[in-house]
Amino acid sequence: MPTAIEIFKHLPKKNCGECKNPTCLAFAMQLANNKAKLDDCPYLSDAGRNALASSSAPPIRLVRVGSGKNVVDMGDETELYRHDKRFFHPTALALRVNDMMSADELGKKLGHARSLRFERVGQVLKLDMIEAECRSGDATKFASFVQSVASMTDWPLVLRCKDASIMNAAVAVVKDRRPLLHGADESNVKEMAAVAKGASCPLVLCSADLGRLADLVEMARKEGVEDLVLDPMPATMKESLERCTVIRRSAIRKTFRGLGFPIYLSTPATQEGTLMALTAVMKYGSLLSFDELPSAQALPLMVLRQNIYTDPQVPIQVKADLYPVNNPGPDAPILFTTNFSLTYFTVLSDIEKSKVPVWLQVIDTEGLSVLTSYSAGKLTAEAVQKALLASNAKERTTKGVLIIPGMVARMSVKLNEATGLKIVVGPKESSGIPKFLRSMNG
Ligand code: SF4
Repeated sequence: MPTAIEIFKHLPKKNCGECKNPTCLAFAMQLANNKAKLDDCPYLSDAGRNALASSSAPPIRLVRVGSGKNVVDMGDETELYRHDKRFFHPTALALRVNDMMSADELGKKLGHARSLRFERVGQVLKLDMIEAECRSGDATKFASFVQSVASMTDWPLVLRCKDASIMNAAVAVVKDRRPLLHGADESNVKEMAAVAKGASCPLVLCSADLGRLADLVEMARKEGVEDLVLDPMPATMKESLERCTVIRRSAIRKTFRGLGFPIYLSTPATQEGTLMALTAVMKYGSLLSFDELPSAQALPLMVLRQNIYTDPQVPIQVKADLYPVNNPGPDAPILFTTNFSLTYFTVLSDIEKSKVPVWLQVIDTEGLSVLTSYSAGKLTAEAVQKALLASNAKERTTKGVLIIPGMVARMSVKLNEATGLKIVVGPKESSGIPKFLRSMNG
């Protein structure tokens, strides 16, 4: 990785500021720290661009598996800690099937894979990939099995096999799906790299020794394969955490290209395997493969993934609007909350539980919760009135009642003045809504 001064030598030195840095030297320092892109400078010469191309490449290579709309992107991460900016590509989850399964077993397992689908705060959480493993050692059998799996599902595929000739036969039937090939190690890296290169597919390199893993990267690159994924083969949660952290730290902090690739982990179907998977979602697994993934394990894993990979600076939001809940008519009250997704879905669910008809007015608070947005001056009486006008709420209900969150009871007077509605202070916690609404109705 060149230093800022070495980068500076290749810059145009116009100090024009168009790259949003006051000087070319400042831009060079940003580039050296992977906080800027070469394209930000419109005046860079071709010679300078070529010379600096390696320094502008992401510290962890972006690897795409799949084709068309069914793709999984891995890598291209820039941070060691999520709070420094964000993590970009959520850990992909794959369920493994193997060619010793009967057609019935395969159908059942793929059916289970499809059932791993949950909705949370307006987002769908689901499985991402299917991994087909060769256990038979028979090229024809494995190729036919891979063909069956591919015909039964659209998911991006991982093909797992250590024999390059068997892998070659299987890849041939799903080449257009651009599967990820797993199984290159010290014994077969040249042959597996030749298969990956021939089919233009990404390749997983396997070694429990990180130094040797970097050597495998070098060898695969010499054979012409750049889209690589690393399998550090941990047997325990401790090993997984240590190896993933060393890989990520080397790539991000030292810009060591030899380990600058996404990480694949195979997690055993044990309690430790579950812990390994949870840890790997946080640090720094790109793809986790499971022999078994029961719903009770998948849901917390997916929820954790959703939380870790949500941009901490951009809360998940819902559209600010008026939502009918429990089939309200003109005699139903209006209840408001903010557009922070978690708040909205919690309040919505509690109103639904009450079975009392309500018009739910969502206020745009830039994704902040009730108390935070009130404290930040985004949840004001004026903002509520503006939202009520925009949604024609007062035309849709003649009851003239606005229920407000108990946390912002002090807004009552101003809200009454701004909206002309009778203000009723609701419960402080959303969980109190069902009892509150039923008592109001009764
Ligand atoms: Fe220098 Fe290019 Fe930035 Fe202008 S846009 S200040 S020339 S690096």
